[in-house]
Amino acid sequence: MADVFKLDLDTPTYKGTVSVNTGLFINGKFVDPVEKNPKIDVVNPATGKVITSVSAGSAKDVDVAVEAALKAYKTSWGLKVPGTERGKLLSKLADLIEKNADEFAALESLNVGKPFTVSKNRDVRLTIAVFRYYAGWADKIHGKTIETNENKFAYTRHEPYGVVGQIVPWNFPLSMVSWKLAPALATGNVCVLKPSEITPLTAQKLAGLVNEAGFPPGVVNIINGHGSTVGAAISSHLKIAKVAFTGSTLTGRKIQEASAKSNLKVVSLELGGKSPNIIFEDADFEQAVKWATLGIFSNSGQVCTAGSRIFVQESIYDKFVEAFRKAAETRTTQIGDPFAEETQHGPQVSQIQFDRIMTYIDSAKTEGANIVIGGNRHGGEGFFIQPTVVADCKPEMKIVREEVFGPVAAVIKFKTEEEVIEMANDTSYGLASAVFTENNSRAIRVAHALEAGMTSINCYNVSEINVPFGGYKQSGVGRELGEYALETYTQVKAVHVNLGLRL
Ligand code: NAD
Repeated sequence: MADVFKLDLDTPTYKGTVSVNTGLFINGKFVDPVEKNPKIDVVNPATGKVITSVSAGSAKDVDVAVEAALKAYKTSWGLKVPGTERGKLLSKLADLIEKNADEFAALESLNVGKPFTVSKNRDVRLTIAVFRYYAGWADKIHGKTIETNENKFAYTRHEPYGVVGQIVPWNFPLSMVSWKLAPALATGNVCVLKPSEITPLTAQKLAGLVNEAGFPPGVVNIINGHGSTVGAAISSHLKIAKVAFTGSTLTGRKIQEASAKSNLKVVSLELGGKSPNIIFEDADFEQAVKWATLGIFSNSGQVCTAGSRIFVQESIYDKFVEAFRKAAETRTTQIGDPFAEETQHGPQVSQIQFDRIMTYIDSAKTEGANIVIGGNRHGGEGFFIQPTVVADCKPEMKIVREEVFGPVAAVIKFKTEEEVIEMANDTSYGLASAVFTENNSRAIRVAHALEAGMTSINCYNVSEINVPFGGYKQSGVGRELGEYALETYTQVKAVHVNLGLRL
């Protein structure tokens, strides 16, 4: 059942066929939606043209998936299956993704516009590594023994929630699926996951490998559809015990509200950011410029941890702005066809995102900032925006306060350490941050003073799979990656054991 999309590609970096089933993946099968909804067009952001269309689920499909998941949880998953077995299946899934790595990378580049080399060497590799990492954890989940008195002791069990709902965004469609599925399955949960309706292709491809990896039907369900229907149904479902989300702060708030109004699900959220990148006059200048460039322009600025507010100490401010302008100029020469070998910088994901970013650039102009380079569309088709450096920004400007989610850096001058800490923390967000200085005491002092879930010293955007990822303030709740994600997907039961206490 359900249609298959197939396309032959003959590009400089990928030659071969890509194919995915475009149906909903429920209970181990690709199926058509219960209701006949209009399909969702999937667009190639490098050309603006439709690639294919995929099925759109509704609340009724979420109901079917939840029932299948619950059945699987009771009969063939959860703690009934030893951790070693759960780990083996996660490893097998990683092997299958590896076997199809080039096709996954091609689909990601086609749908998101990422350079093929980046999709292959970063996104797909990271995805494989995450499945392997949590495969290793699956048999190492244990509680504690707690002595109480001579007649009694207690122990804790870290038990799965049961059915977990997961909603992912479009900026890292495949790797976000791995961050969600791998720890949830390793800890014994069953999953109902919704990809972004804008970028469903790699999630659909992964769904096609779930049976081959050996997961019992119903353990993994992937339902494509809109946020307002499938996403809302997941967040308000009475039989879903936990929901995990990555995306905008606005949607995160809606998910938390829906969870509160339904069954008080446990909610974990990875939201937006407006992360400060602080460069002191005693930093290794060339390195700081290179990391700042990577920090804001990678993935065309569509990164929740993007270093989008660059604070530069006044004595090196002019020199920095010029060096950064040159770095952006070089980056502009690397914009192009995602499948060309030399491309490093792709388009924005959609017309909506393109328009949104251009509105922010206009606001910077109107509010008196200085567009040092960029600020315009690149090329004649697709959703490309030039890497843009906006200097002479003031803290009250929109370009400094709001998440742009595009290749736009706001550069701000500062005088002292105290002043920059104050300015850096003056935001409702608290995801990432960084400090560049050769003075170790200052580096650590500033890193500790920044109100953010992650901070880097003399580097940027270097997340590691075994290090927790998440935000302070309105950037999120809970942590993904590392051992911390096991806590995100388990609940603790205390078991009291009476050894001889008599009443
Ligand atoms: P979004 O938050 O609307 O979408 C993310 C996911 O949430 C998608 O799967 C979407 O279908 C789903 N969703 C939307 N409405 C929902 C609802 N009411 N209930 C449940 N799920 C729902 O993000 P967007 O509109 O695609 O992008 C808007 C902005 O979000 C971006 O410009 C950027 O600022 C931010 N964003 C952040 C991240 C991140 O990694 N933190 C990722 C993508 C987008």
